[in-house]
Amino acid sequence: MPTLSLDSLLERPLRAAILAAADSAAVQKAVSRYGMRLGAKRFVAGETTAEFLDVARAVNAQGFAVACGILGEGVRDRAAATAAADQYCELLRIFAEQGLDANVAFKLTHVGLDVDPELAYENAARIAQAARDTNNTMRLDMEQSRYVDATLRVYRRLRAQFDNAGFVLQAYLFRSIDDLRAQQAPNVRIVKGAYLEPPAVAYEKKADVDQNYLRLAYTALEGPGYTAIATHDSRIIDAVERFVAERGIPKRGRFEFQMLYGISTPLAARLLECGYRVRLAVPFGDFWFPYLMRRLAERPANLAFFLKGALSRG
Ligand code: FAD
Repeated sequence: MPTLSLDSLLERPLRAAILAAADSAAVQKAVSRYGMRLGAKRFVAGETTAEFLDVARAVNAQGFAVACGILGEGVRDRAAATAAADQYCELLRIFAEQGLDANVAFKLTHVGLDVDPELAYENAARIAQAARDTNNTMRLDMEQSRYVDATLRVYRRLRAQFDNAGFVLQAYLFRSIDDLRAQQAPNVRIVKGAYLEPPAVAYEKKADVDQNYLRLAYTALEGPGYTAIATHDSRIIDAVERFVAERGIPKRGRFEFQMLYGISTPLAARLLECGYRVRLAVPFGDFWFPYLMRRLAERPANLAFFLKGALSRG
């Protein structure tokens, strides 16, 4: 019979509690006031474009590519959604001007999916066009399972016109393997999945998510598209390294590793040294609260680090 450690018994409810707190206006108000000072900066480049560009330059100087994300989601206002898309287009122009090795990845609910799916598509297409104009790429992040169909619809429409568009699949969702097989030569980032999903749609046990992750990764890597292996899980990374070596898949050109800024930097550095392309996802902006909560939920030990910061500063 499989055994569960005390840690993993405590971790699941704690994770659920942190993700539930992410929806609480009161927690948001309290954390947003001091969070950046107390620890959010570990995961977020800052609140302004200038702060982001400083971090992006430093990350590039270490040899990593950057995936830029402006923090924002669940936008309910047409003007705000359009402004977010404008900001991405402007960033793409800045990357080209300054010679930065950085592309963009964003959430469709940031550019209007909750307002009007057509608006989200138009904004995403404008970003894809700005990326194409600057010889760059863009990617749609994947959000909660209720958005998967709409996100895949937008991705397919984009791909009909833009070969520089990518999307994301989450290994915790049962459906992801079918979604992967339904795309032709996809540009796909594979992640485990960061949201609280019901057992009707998602694997609950880490071992099942990990197994599905490898199934998705191997399927994507064997196919004709481009794959981003986005994880900090060293066992998964080791397995992928063995897989590509056995299949003779070159270290660059058909796939890359991706990690989040502030997490597992030594592992990212080792991959770079081995000759792989490695991209760090670097977020910035003032709407960092839900992002921080997802990072805390992934590793509740981060909560202790965050609270220690809070207590030591009174
Ligand atoms: P885990 O098993 O969670 O972690 C493996 C090890 O990594 C842990 O033991 C720990 O050492 C380290 N680690 C992991 N998370 C943390 C953390 N927060 N703090 C400190 N150490 C940590 N999810 C989505 O749902 N949609 C997306 O579009 C999306 N995009 C992503 C893009 C990138 C580049 C990456 C790396 C992740 C993205 N995620 C996304 C998040 C992802 O779904 C996971 O929640 C996250 O990557 C943690 O899972 P893991 O693969 O690192 O494995």
